[in-house]
Amino acid sequence: MKANDLSVVISAPSGAGKTTLIKKLLLADDRMEFSISTTTRLKRAGETGGNSYHFVSEVEFRDMIENGDFIEWALVHGNYYGSTKKEIDRILLAGKIPIFDVDVQGARALRSKLDSAVYIFVAPPSREVLESRLRNRKTDSEEQIQMRMRNAVRELREYALYDYIVINDDLDTALNQIRSIVTAELCKNDRVSHIINGILEEGRDNTA
Ligand code: ADP
Ligand code: 5GP
Repeated sequence: MKANDLSVVISAPSGAGKTTLIKKLLLADDRMEFSISTTTRLKRAGETGGNSYHFVSEVEFRDMIENGDFIEWALVHGNYYGSTKKEIDRILLAGKIPIFDVDVQGARALRSKLDSAVYIFVAPPSREVLESRLRNRKTDSEEQIQMRMRNAVRELREYALYDYIVINDDLDTALNQIRSIVTAELCKNDRVSHIINGILEEGRDNTA
């Protein structure tokens, strides 16, 4: 484990508040950078390409799969989503911590590919709250809301895949919990011990 090799993988059932939390997290902490996924989903109002997602056609997405461009990809809610190797390299080269917003399939795939990542599952405080957040967001049709609720139950069953669970009831509490998890990860023995080893090396000649 190297000092600067942490990645943060966040999943949540749609509507739990993950996008809101990640936006706040990025504003609060410039050590982190969002890994912009590529998707075939249609843009929502207010979304621009290269910001929340790189939007591509299904043909383009398939070409990218063939080229081996993705570290992981999945079909989610009827659309393709994937994290590109190029995007991860861009963030790591800038010396930042990549934040991945992926579904449970993506988290499972990343577990076997990313050496050093922390996996966080964001969950709503109740089923009612989840449904009302999806409705209040006013971005999805009734059919999509029903599909997202069915998928939410399937995703909630996968919580054991994650290192931490954050219940997004009060937004600031949830945000602080995620920041605390990242801070704790950065203090892990394997990430910091090189500093102590450096001190021990320096003093080698004049101590017993
Ligand atoms: P996701 O990215 O997980 O699908 P969003 O971030 O789009 O979810 O949040 C869904 C809706 O819930 C949005 O309208 C957002 O403003 C609202 N929301 C998110 N977190 C909270 C919270 N802690 N309390 C109240 N509303 C929230
Ligand atoms: P939305 O369309 O609401 O932005 O996202 C729908 C779902 O796709 C969310 O669960 C989100 O985490 C997931 N998702 C977004 N990007 C990726 C990705 O690159 N890979 C995978 N596997 N899932 C993704």
